[in-house]
Amino acid sequence: MIRFWIALFLGKIIYYTLKLFSQDATTLPGKIALIIDPFFIKKISKRIKNIILITGTNGKTTTNNLLFSLLRKNNYKVLGNLEGANLKSGIATCYIKNPKIFDFATFEIDEGIFPKILEDISPSIVVITNFFRDQLDRYGEIDITVNRIFKALEEKKGIKLVLNGDDPFVARFQALPHEKIFYGIKEKIRDEDSDIKESIYCPKCGKKLFYEYFTYAQLGRYSCSCGFKNPEYEFYIKNINRKDSQNFSIIEKDTEVSLSFKYPGIYNLYNVLAGYAVGRIIGLSPDNLRENISSFSFFLGRFEKFIYKGKDKIIILVKNPTGYNQVLDMIRGDPSDKILTLILNDNIADGRDVSWIWDVDFEKLKEDKSIKKIYCSGKRGEDLMVRLKYAEIPLDKILLVKSLRKAINLSLSSPYKAFILPTYTALFKTRKLLLRKGKNGT
Ligand SMILES: [Zn+2]
Repeated sequence: MIRFWIALFLGKIIYYTLKLFSQDATTLPGKIALIIDPFFIKKISKRIKNIILITGTNGKTTTNNLLFSLLRKNNYKVLGNLEGANLKSGIATCYIKNPKIFDFATFEIDEGIFPKILEDISPSIVVITNFFRDQLDRYGEIDITVNRIFKALEEKKGIKLVLNGDDPFVARFQALPHEKIFYGIKEKIRDEDSDIKESIYCPKCGKKLFYEYFTYAQLGRYSCSCGFKNPEYEFYIKNINRKDSQNFSIIEKDTEVSLSFKYPGIYNLYNVLAGYAVGRIIGLSPDNLRENISSFSFFLGRFEKFIYKGKDKIIILVKNPTGYNQVLDMIRGDPSDKILTLILNDNIADGRDVSWIWDVDFEKLKEDKSIKKIYCSGKRGEDLMVRLKYAEIPLDKILLVKSLRKAINLSLSSPYKAFILPTYTALFKTRKLLLRKGKNGT
């Protein structure tokens, strides 16, 4: 036990030192604590009665932030890694910051390390959002990731699984003996379809899946001649307002609840569904959930709005092609004149291999007259420039601005609305630069 206390003590000293110099303190304290005591997470997580883990490729941070806020509004004591530090070091840091007794913990867990985390933590609920191509250089194929998570869960009893049934990859988890709660969208929401499909082959027999419609990427209503299809949903969305997708109904048995969510995008509907389902499972009422989902605001980073000289300057974190395409769709749906600032880093947390930007449909932007300028920045800003040139974006619209500070200043001084899209490690600095000058508006 002495190792544990030293780990906690040193972790705290590092945490407060970093804070003192306003450095990013979301992972290093945990990293050091885990070196001193490799069982640090296992020991400290015993202090929390109910732990909810959220994994998958996209939507983890939003779902996690939403759940955290739903629980907090009901006066529960909750611990959560809201800033998206979702590797072991981030979880350990989260505990170091708050080594108290909590009713709930909600952690987003990187899908690659999820099996390792299950060795240390015994969750009561696990949410699986979806599986897309994400940082392949770290994990290899999706199949491997899915199988590893499947095996890890198989060995662990007593977990309720909350699963996105619209994703055939997640629907594979039907085969687990656990209690399973599925959610999805039961409505065709768009006519065109140009997104990437990771795989539309049946996970059971390998034949090509038949789709009635797609919601986004490989998510949608599917079936196979072998009998594999969307599972029965306990919670599903219908009656989506197709203009902004921000008003819709959630249906649970005979109850229909009308909701609104202030963040646009189809992907956010899935995040709301996951949050709603978990809320119901732990006993929150539909009315309570409706009210708190409608009033939900992010703490930071994911669609954060700053106002500068009367213009919106919006930060949205991007990290893989599917998420990026969804963000571009949302931007294209906004008719106001705007500029974009794209920031690409290749640190470990971003993924070292940046070739994924070739799977982002920047081609969608080439005809868009409302986009006045696109700045490319970050350690790999040049790669973005090359990508945009290949996408045939007019050359007079794109500009390389290597210094992040300069790029942010340009975004702020522009007379237009600005969308600023950083990868993970650029997010903190981007926020800091914006906070210095803009007024936080969300
Ligand atoms: Zn099949």
